[in-house]
Amino acid sequence: MDIYVLSIFPEFIQEYIKIGVIRKAVEKGLVKITSLNLRDFTKDKHRTTDDYPYGGGGGMIMKVEPVWNALKSIKKRGLTILLTPQGKLLSQKKLHTFSESDSITIIAGRYKGVDERIRTFIDEEISIGDYVLSGGELPALILIEGIVRLIPGVVGNYESVNTDSFENGILDAPYYTRPAEFMGLKVPEILLSGNHQKIKEWKRQKSLKKTLEKRPKLLKNAELTEKDKKYLEKIEKGDK
Ligand code: SAM
Repeated sequence: MDIYVLSIFPEFIQEYIKIGVIRKAVEKGLVKITSLNLRDFTKDKHRTTDDYPYGGGGGMIMKVEPVWNALKSIKKRGLTILLTPQGKLLSQKKLHTFSESDSITIIAGRYKGVDERIRTFIDEEISIGDYVLSGGELPALILIEGIVRLIPGVVGNYESVNTDSFENGILDAPYYTRPAEFMGLKVPEILLSGNHQKIKEWKRQKSLKKTLEKRPKLLKNAELTEKDKKYLEKIEKGDK
């Protein structure tokens, strides 16, 4: 997969992709990440990427020409995404859809926002949450990390990805590692039992319970078996 990021701070992207899962994916040749500096696509000697807003008001606006020139320089830009708090909220489902693309181009805004005409060149607007950051670089990295770990072959143990929160519509199960007892806090007996079927059932129930307690709305769209529903009814009634 090819990922292009357009930004006035390409070093944010270049530094982060040298670490962890993304670095491994790049080394394995499963993803190529190119970050373009919007200043390289300006024509004036000050390499200006912002200007005053028409009609006045506070803040500067990201200019349309450098963004358009940068987009034109990419041969296969694929799905073109503008990062903005006004976009559709990013979700695990969206990440799966994006991870199937051959090529993605991400525009990271800055300043008070981007010239509205930039929206003419894009396919999707994505927000990482209902809050406002100063720039689109961190959202771009969130998007990249979320996408890259779903590309087959990137994460060695795909079962680990498969059972993450939201993958099956509910939250992930609780986990423990050694020691079996820490300051009197014991690992649940069942996890030490070696009974894989029972452990699987226990994990499912704990996932359901956590979801009911922390994110009950998720259960409305989750695929639940009759057994799941019975269990949820039981804990809603107060039985553990
Ligand atoms: N005035 C804009 C608004 O209220 O919609 C916010 C602009 S913000 C200060 C500057 C840039 O940061 C945006 O163009 C966008 O690229 C990025 N950004 C900030 N918050 C974001 C979010 N929640 N999701 C995605 N991008 C965000």
